[in-house]
Amino acid sequence: MDTATARKRLEEMRDYLDRSIAVLKAEHPAAEGTPGYPDPADAAANLSEADRTLTTLQAAQSQRSQVLEAMDRLAAGHYGICTECGRPVPEGRLEARPEAARCLACQSRAGRLRRRPPWPPRRQRPDAQ
Ligand SMILES: [Zn+2]
Repeated sequence: MDTATARKRLEEMRDYLDRSIAVLKAEHPAAEGTPGYPDPADAAANLSEADRTLTTLQAAQSQRSQVLEAMDRLAAGHYGICTECGRPVPEGRLEARPEAARCLACQSRAGRLRRRPPWPPRRQRPDAQ
């Protein structure tokens, strides 16, 4: 992907995420100014509608920061280079995830450490008898 295309796509993602975040914050005013809320354990224990909104908001904010980091890498001239192993991130992956910081191998290693969704908690799974 050439630099101009990558920049355009990242800017579109950032603008889209900005709009989503604004909408989500309007739906969940408590999300602003309460860093660390909710505690992940609480969120898993009572996943109300508001909690789901907050989870979506946090995911949008996290993706937005990844987009901004990708724009920094673009400006610094190392966009599309895996931040872990330094090899080029495959074109197809950048097409799908223009904000990707890592190649698929490094991402799946990193992702496995924190990918498990908070719900359901392992010990409460119905099939865990
Ligand atoms: Zn890598």
